[in-house]
Amino acid sequence: MGIQRRHFLQTTGGLALAALMRAWPVEAAEKDFCVPDNPLQALMAGNRRFAEAWQRADQETKTTLRAADPDPRCFNSPRALATSQHPWATVLTCSDSRVSPSWVFDTTPGELFVIRNAGNTAFTEAIASVEYSVSILKTPLLMVMGHSGCGAVTAAMGTDPLTPSLDRLIQPIRENISGSSDLEEAVKRNALASASTLMQRSAVLADAKASGALKLVVGCFQLSSGVVTLIE
Ligand SMILES: [Zn+2]
Repeated sequence: MGIQRRHFLQTTGGLALAALMRAWPVEAAEKDFCVPDNPLQALMAGNRRFAEAWQRADQETKTTLRAADPDPRCFNSPRALATSQHPWATVLTCSDSRVSPSWVFDTTPGELFVIRNAGNTAFTEAIASVEYSVSILKTPLLMVMGHSGCGAVTAAMGTDPLTPSLDRLIQPIRENISGSSDLEEAVKRNALASASTLMQRSAVLADAKASGALKLVVGCFQLSSGVVTLIE
């Protein structure tokens, strides 16, 4: 048992988590899974493949995204995935239908652990899910990703009346962007603030980052080009 997992168990209640770990036997056959040597390089290479296909499909109407990318890559076997998982990156991003991380990073089942809500906010549930991914599944890379044209950030910049639930959803974004009137800038500030919140509100994640077990990056996905740019 690694230091991070021990610390996680000590700080969050060992019994319940021990049961959780038995339910998902994550330590079985790690060698059977696709795990790149350099997760950030692999993530960005996947986005280059996606962006090229995205731009090609934009230019050539007969090209589809599905047919555009013949590059060989690793696929986890269904047999391995049926009993375990070894995702190599965690992504917190927006629920927007155009921002599906598995597509954006050209990955296959079992590679990314994804948390989504409209506006990619680090709510308590999102923090807990990231803690699970980092501490139990040991993903070495965490990306918080905003995107161009984000409806949640746009709503937070406006004054239109919202339902009580939507208002609660938007409130943290309002605080993160503090009066910004430029959507692109607001999207970046919101993503950076979500990353900061994850570190401030989770000792487990802050410790993992400090020890080098976790690399944290912040990205912005540009819908027009398909490109993810690292902003931190
Ligand atoms: Zn969005």
